Amino acid sequence: MVTKLYTHPIFLEHLTPSGHPERPDRLRAIERVLDDEAFAALDRVKAPEGDEATILYAHPEDFVARVRAAIPETGIVSIDADTSASPKSWQAAVTAIGAANAAVDDVFEGRAANAFVAARPPGHHAEKTTAMGFCLFNTAAIAARYAQRKHQAERVAVVDWDVHHGNGTQDIFWDDPSVLYCSTHQMPLYPGTGAKNETGAGNIVNAPLAPRTGSEVFRDAFLSRVLPALDDFAPDLIIISAGFDAHHRDPLAEINLTEEDFDWATGQLMERAGRHSGNRLVSLLEGGYDLQGLAFSVAAHVGRLMKG
Ligand SMILES: [Zn+2]
Repeated sequence: MVTKLYTHPIFLEHLTPSGHPERPDRLRAIERVLDDEAFAALDRVKAPEGDEATILYAHPEDFVARVRAAIPETGIVSIDADTSASPKSWQAAVTAIGAANAAVDDVFEGRAANAFVAARPPGHHAEKTTAMGFCLFNTAAIAARYAQRKHQAERVAVVDWDVHHGNGTQDIFWDDPSVLYCSTHQMPLYPGTGAKNETGAGNIVNAPLAPRTGSEVFRDAFLSRVLPALDDFAPDLIIISAGFDAHHRDPLAEINLTEEDFDWATGQLMERAGRHSGNRLVSLLEGGYDLQGLAFSVAAHVGRLMKG
């Protein structure tokens, strides 16, 4: 079965202020590297229009209305110190959700072995009622709940290897034992959450990594905390919050992973998806701000997904 790649030109039209690390060039770098003939077998799909009603799976209506009201007609507005919106940001965010939900449909309905969604804005910092950290809505959380509602998934796991803790995903699922949230992230670092003792309803597994650590510490966290939690939980679907800012070249953090580590971690999650989830695995782009580090890491990640 194929690996699907979801993209859409609207993702280039969510604009951030000049010099902002979360910029459209990130997706151009990914597009370039995946143009290589090594990726010819990818099933490339233009993301469908998202269903705005699914935003409510993770966020209350008044918050959604507030974000919509903040979208400017021209220019770029600040939502918080590092989160902004431009005229097409709403459409980009809703299309990112549409892509993630369509990827969930694909793996449940047997049209793909797995899928990678190359979208922006990212999502994992968006809490129930707060847009923050470059994120408007929590795409991964919405996709997890979508899998539960549309496909009767009983248990969904979200594994987040972005270098920043996914405070938003943790917040949304804090008291929901039907979703397992596992995160490796640098600590201390933005947003400040993600300590080991933050465990929610027993469904939150945080594996903080000290600054200036690398492959060995990351893989140990995976082997000792993330993978055993997945084995205990036996999810019906694994969603990856795939940020690539733990790469050693990344300017926003100090974890020293290489693309080989993302290849390895992808393989580990595919093995678990095979064991527990009927191979169902959907990967969503989160961070990654060094264009070369991002491109090489995505190539390693998607290349591994394609090996089925
Ligand atoms: Zn990040």
